[in-house]
Amino acid sequence: MGKKDKQFAIIGLGRFGTSVALTLAKAGYEVLAIDADEERVQKFSEEVTHVVQADTTDEASLKALGIRNFDTVVVAIGEDIQANVLTTLLLREIGVPNIVAKARNELHGKMLEKIGADKVIYPERDMGARVAHNLVSSNVLDFIELSPNLSLVEVAAPKALQGRTLAEANLRALYGINVVAIKRGEQIIVPPRPGEQITAEDILIIVGSNSGVQKLEEME
Ligand code: ATP
Repeated sequence: MGKKDKQFAIIGLGRFGTSVALTLAKAGYEVLAIDADEERVQKFSEEVTHVVQADTTDEASLKALGIRNFDTVVVAIGEDIQANVLTTLLLREIGVPNIVAKARNELHGKMLEKIGADKVIYPERDMGARVAHNLVSSNVLDFIELSPNLSLVEVAAPKALQGRTLAEANLRALYGINVVAIKRGEQIIVPPRPGEQITAEDILIIVGSNSGVQKLEEME
């Protein structure tokens, strides 16, 4: 199966669900968008091809959509936690291979994990953390929390490191940071060798503990 043959269904066309659906559609993927609200469905029908009105807490409606045939289903229902949880549960029972569900808070997220969501996302919390890291350091381009104490960060090479090799920078010994790749223009150097010299145009992709990452973020 080619990458573009993957089929996605997005349930709930709030701001988040709409953004996911439109991004996938623009990238050329098959997307089925579903919402219980007729008005939202109407509005969306001008932007993507497949959009249907359905209440996804109703098992028969879900099955009638052939939801089982989708590789990934994103549950982007926000305010109505009960509808969000019930939909996730039904998708699990129907046997959807990959269920991604949006959680409003930690407790809701735990519940989604228990009932079998394959991935739980916290858009507000995660975007808040990204913005905060960007505020702390203008070098930080992107930030993903891998676990409570481990992050993957994309950071513009700080001046202090430019002109030095990775071995000379000694980030692993000093801060417990691993440089897993270097983006240099169109080129991606992975894995970088110890003798690789860091240049001013480099973007470092690093994995490290929060304290180590923070040290690098604060470097000028
Ligand atoms: P965002 O922050 O992304 O804008 P939100 O958290 O405000 O989203 P809501 O607007 O509450 O999210 O929900 C997103 C959509 O989910 C709404 O358009 C709503 O009609 C739809 N929705 C709610 N319940 C159901 C359901 N049972 N079946 C299908 N769609 C539903």
